[in-house]
Amino acid sequence: METILDIHNLSKSYGSAGKTLTVLDDVNFAIETGSSNAIVGPSGSGKTTLLGLCAGLDRSSGGSVTLNGINLNTLSEDKRAQVRNQFVGFIFQNFQLLPTLTALENVMVPLELRGERNIKARAMDLLDKVGLASRSHHYPTQLSGGEQQRVSIARAFSNQPKILFADEPTGNLDAETGERVQKLLFDLNQDAGTTLVVVTHDLELAGKTGRILRIKGGKLVSDEKTTA
Ligand code: ADP
Repeated sequence: METILDIHNLSKSYGSAGKTLTVLDDVNFAIETGSSNAIVGPSGSGKTTLLGLCAGLDRSSGGSVTLNGINLNTLSEDKRAQVRNQFVGFIFQNFQLLPTLTALENVMVPLELRGERNIKARAMDLLDKVGLASRSHHYPTQLSGGEQQRVSIARAFSNQPKILFADEPTGNLDAETGERVQKLLFDLNQDAGTTLVVVTHDLELAGKTGRILRIKGGKLVSDEKTTA
């Protein structure tokens, strides 16, 4: 089995001398290419911080994050952004769409950053995939939470990521919309072979992935394969 993400002795602290808060403490695991994985644990246990480090959004205080063979710790912020553009997708719990851009323009941003061609048509295709072609010219405030999350999914899919990180992707959605969003994520995992790492408090969603990693107090306390 090939490894796409390798976390070794990872630690993260916030604050400075005298007032340090250790949020992650000596976390170790590896994620197989093409697998689907859930990270669960109580609120405040370090899940979002861990996901951000795995995706190169932030830098660790100790240990290493190796993504697709690249050690992220040795990279500048600019280089980490390049790595993210190349093969990482990230879905934020609160969507993080740019409010001054339409749905279509939000999806076009990563394509533009990658210097790709035909970006408008490709962004339209992506919106169509998530069932939002008819909302392409709407601004985020004109869309429901579920629609905003689907735009953020279309944006996360736009660079055909090798690995997709999702932080509570269904946390702010009603049950029906949550199901729809889950289906989009699992379809991408199954059809395109995109590795999936989902932070969730929804144990039903976690149970649909192949493996559940449990974090408590900044430590990995269990790591189990599911029967999914
Ligand atoms: P979870 O996702 O499991 O709820 P988080 O990773 O969001 O946990 O947070 C873990 C701990 O780290 C919390 O105590 C939180 O207050 C703290 N924390 C997160 N981000 C920062 C930050 N930028 N500065 C200081 N403390 C932070």
